[in-house]
Amino acid sequence: MEVKESKLLGHSNPFESMMSRFDVAAKILGLDEDTYNMLKSPVKQVLVNLPVTMDNGRISVFEGFRVIHNNYMGPGKGGIRFAMDVDLDEVKALAAWMTWKCAVVNVPFGGAKGGVKCDPRKMSKGELERLTRAYTQAMADVFGPEKDIPAPDMGTGQQEMAWLMDEFSRIKGFTNAGVVTGKPLVLGGSKGRVEATGRGVMVTCRAALNKLKINPANATAAVQGFGNVGSISAKLLESQGIKIVAISDISGAYYNANGINVSEAIAYSQANKNSLEGYKNAEKITNDQLLTLDVDVLVPAALQDVITKENAPNIKAKLIVEGANGPTSANADAILKEKGIMIVPDILANAGGVTVSYFEWVQNHQGYYWTEERVNRRADRTMKEAFEQVYQASIKFNVDMRIAAYIVAIDKVASTRKLLGGF
Ligand code: GLU
Repeated sequence: MEVKESKLLGHSNPFESMMSRFDVAAKILGLDEDTYNMLKSPVKQVLVNLPVTMDNGRISVFEGFRVIHNNYMGPGKGGIRFAMDVDLDEVKALAAWMTWKCAVVNVPFGGAKGGVKCDPRKMSKGELERLTRAYTQAMADVFGPEKDIPAPDMGTGQQEMAWLMDEFSRIKGFTNAGVVTGKPLVLGGSKGRVEATGRGVMVTCRAALNKLKINPANATAAVQGFGNVGSISAKLLESQGIKIVAISDISGAYYNANGINVSEAIAYSQANKNSLEGYKNAEKITNDQLLTLDVDVLVPAALQDVITKENAPNIKAKLIVEGANGPTSANADAILKEKGIMIVPDILANAGGVTVSYFEWVQNHQGYYWTEERVNRRADRTMKEAFEQVYQASIKFNVDMRIAAYIVAIDKVASTRKLLGGF
């Protein structure tokens, strides 16, 4: 199969960006055209309009999406994003990334993603609850513990998952904990789920530093983004002896060559409406300066497409661990490869979240809840094994870690399809 030149040149369409990497891996694997077409096409795409009564009595109509990209390995799985820039292409790409992510860590789920175009920061708690319930009602036939299992993503968290579980349970007529993961503990959430993505970032970062023969005690890191993934990644990397010299959020980036005290920064942000604005114990720099700092490790844990062909030539980190989904544009891959920068790609680095989501779902089915120690031990083992498998594939096929991760994932999903047969 030919990889179209135009696809490697870079673009802002996230689905095409995903496909350009997919195409390279599919070509190396020698994927036949029929399987290629099946893996490329999402199984289901649902688009709804959600009328919600706002606090001022008016009705606003919100666009909602759910895409199940693939369900060969199991039910659809993936988060729900509340953000203004959500659209079908983005949700499609994120759903496909979930398919590859679940396959990389051997979690028996397919890939899905949902989203609502809204600005949760500008909505009251009541408005968010009504929106989440309206979305759940509209998707009641799509979701299900054996069909499609949502989770938190950007702009959503435990509270939205609790509303979703409640609304779904009311519709079905019985308590249904396994329909959603990332729930509060009292509703059947899993210990360790809140920290799971950041913990996976830390575990894969350590594994990569080991390959690069960099001692964590001598390493420095810059972490972009200070939401759930960024702040917990920073805290756990710091716990491994890595000096966190820069952090950032929407208010800007903060640099301190002597190291930032991450717990203190988290406490500051929490006390300051989840913003680092005004954080004192560091020098203020721009988000772009953060990306090009002279550090050992760079952790983009905010938005997609922040490492581009424009700034990639200036990146000095030896290792990039992608906490966010899709932080590197396809057009930057070749530049980073040329510079010899090792990348732990998103579908591996941030897969700790869905791994513990799987453990949550298992516990819901068992009706028996694990200790935090058991959750972490199993999650760490999963992440280490996945890292090693991808690393070995990168040597075997002589490709970077990103393409290796796609090769591992596509191979698993394609061979499952072969066993399942077809129409
Ligand atoms: N939204 C997270 C992700 O992108 C978690 C998904 C899940 O736990 O299902 O990986």
